[in-house]
Amino acid sequence: MSKPIVVIVSGANRGIGEAICRGVLSLSQPVILYAASRAGKDLHFNPNASTGSQVKYPKLDITDKESIQRLVAEIQSSENGIDALINNAGVNVDQQYSLENVNLTLATNYDGTLSMNQAFLPLVRSRKGRIVNVSSVGSMLKPYSPEIQERFRNVQSLADVDKLRQEYVENVKNRTETESGWGGQRRAYSVSKALINGLTRVLAAEEEKQGSGVLINCCCPGWVSTEMGHLVGNAPKSPGKTLYGHAARHGCCLTVSSVPFSDDGAKIPLRL
Ligand code: NDP
Repeated sequence: MSKPIVVIVSGANRGIGEAICRGVLSLSQPVILYAASRAGKDLHFNPNASTGSQVKYPKLDITDKESIQRLVAEIQSSENGIDALINNAGVNVDQQYSLENVNLTLATNYDGTLSMNQAFLPLVRSRKGRIVNVSSVGSMLKPYSPEIQERFRNVQSLADVDKLRQEYVENVKNRTETESGWGGQRRAYSVSKALINGLTRVLAAEEEKQGSGVLINCCCPGWVSTEMGHLVGNAPKSPGKTLYGHAARHGCCLTVSSVPFSDDGAKIPLRL
């Protein structure tokens, strides 16, 4: 039997994260899946017995660096690397727009995703693995001023991405997000996902420069019927189907990596 691949999925307890876990466990090769959730509960996934796959249910809050480090330590003690890290966890609380919720959105979607990438990259490098950061078509730059669009398109370093983050929060604090070119209020989710695209671009380029063999991508799953998907109406896709081609057929994927990637971002986690 072939060596098991090691996969981590954040936000595994519901929605798209749960579907990704089920998809990973349906692979015909053996998998050790870390189905991580804030509660760290047994999610009763069925590993494929014929392949000898296993599932573990670690606790993980991506806004808490200690929680991330505990998971790094757990994985370091039992695996010699990671083949795929799927940063799926995220929030959208723009319907209750406030500075507090803007901070929560950026702390989760941007800071949390960045911390996950940075903490797990050494383990991913040791297996020339891949990282998928779940973004959104909501990250499209069109609503922003030409200057902000240009800055997002030309990020060269994490400092450039962080600067955009800081300026956005400053503008929200001063209630000047509209005149400052952020396309109006209630856009924290969209901004956080544009920042994820930025961090992905920077980290992917760095791995490419170093020749580490690691691929880092981001993707949009399409509009999917989950708790988050229902916030804006009746989403047409079911989480399971998203993984198996819906997103590709409807052309709702975006990838911003500078390294070779599939043009079907939604399938990346399964092509290991
Ligand atoms: P859900 O709201 O259904 O699920 C979000 C998941 O993220 C939950 O498991 C939640 O855990 C977890 N989560 C939130 N905050 C944290 C945190 N601090 N630490 C760890 N886990 C956390 O959303 P979806 O399944 O729809 O979304 C999954 C991803 O797909 C998100 O990144 C979202 O932005 C993206 N996406 C979704 C679209 C859609 O149409 N549904 C469209 C485009 C992108 P808990 O149960 O503990 O809250």
